[in-house]
Order: sequence, then structure tokens, then C-alpha cells
Amino acid sequence: MIFIFSGPSGVGKSTIIDAIRQKRDFQFSVSYTSRNIREGEYNGEDYNFVTEEEFLRLIDDDFFVEYEKYGRNYYGTSKNAVNNSVGSLILDLEVNGATKLLASNPSFTGIFIDIDDEELIKRLKKRGHDEAFIDERMRLAEYQRSFMDKFDYQIKNKDINTTVNKILDIIYSLEER
Ligand code: 5GP
Repeated sequence: MIFIFSGPSGVGKSTIIDAIRQKRDFQFSVSYTSRNIREGEYNGEDYNFVTEEEFLRLIDDDFFVEYEKYGRNYYGTSKNAVNNSVGSLILDLEVNGATKLLASNPSFTGIFIDIDDEELIKRLKKRGHDEAFIDERMRLAEYQRSFMDKFDYQIKNKDINTTVNKILDIIYSLEER
């Protein structure tokens, strides 16, 4: 089974995915990106970090099942990651790549994770972002929400444990089908 997670940035997607993977043996699709590595990230684990030039070459080589430019950077999922997956696989994608992949693969399950505006603002402030950045992120969140109904499930993340349990329930119910 392949699960595509998406939603506005700052909703806690990575924390949720990590928590799910601690409870269940899910593979995670490690994407390729041209963005710089951040502190605490590992190459090959969080992303495969490549230069923009390398990324563009991979596009030419038809290496990706999907890729997008998000902000100033490229992000893409290799065909390998999807085609050679064993067991269940989780993908964490921005909305454009996520909805395209869902549209062309009806057997994939799309999970959109959202959060209340007030909570999102609180989190962004906590990360030290200024008002202009927060305004921009809120506008982006509205755009991202416009894709929400293209996903099979929409979940509002109010409390991490509740969210993780809701997602695990969805997975169990799909497994029983
Ligand atoms: P970040 O730079 O914060 O790690 O990720 C930015 C955005 O890129 C997130 O919304 C994440 O879901 C998305 N993303 C990560 N990998 C991929 C990918 O392979 N394809 C697409 N379309 N989006 C990705």
C-alpha cells in the first residue's frame, strides 16, 4: 500500500510520519532535492541531496515518477522508490506532486493533514519567523487547502497522539478490505 501525505508546511507532517513509523513497519520514500541540507538532517535518510544541475540531469534521464519546484528548490520522487517498494510506503509530498500522483494511481491513498490557523501561526512564531513570512505562509496554506478534497482523507492535527491513532485506524481499515 502506498500512502501520500500532504498539507500546509508547519502542520507537523514529519513528526506524524515519524510517530507512525515507530508504531508500524512502514518504508519512507526518501525524495531527491536540490535544496541545502539543514542542521540535523542526514543525506540519504531525510533526502538525497543533489545539486540543481544533478537534479535537472535526473529529470532528463526520466528518473522521477513526479517532481516539482517548490519555492526555489526542486523536489522529486524516484521511480525506483515507488516501483520497488516492499510492504507499505509513505510519501511526504507538496500538494501539486501529491495530487498528480494520486490522480494517476487510484490505488494510492491520499492523506491531507491540516491544522487550525491560530495553531499554525503559533508554531511559525515559535520557529522565530517574522510577520511577513507568516503572512506568506498563511496565504500558501490557503492555496494548499484548495487541494484538500482531492485526498481520500482529511485530518486536522489538534493533538499528535489523536492524529496518529486516526491515521493508524485508517490504515487498519484499508488492510482489512
Ligand atoms: P522541506 O524543504 O521543508 O523539507 O519540504 C518542502 C516541501 O517539499 C514539503 O511540503 C514536502 O512535502 C515537499 N516534498 C518533499 N519531497 C517531495 C517530493 O519528492 N516531491 C514533491 N512533489 N514534494 C516533495
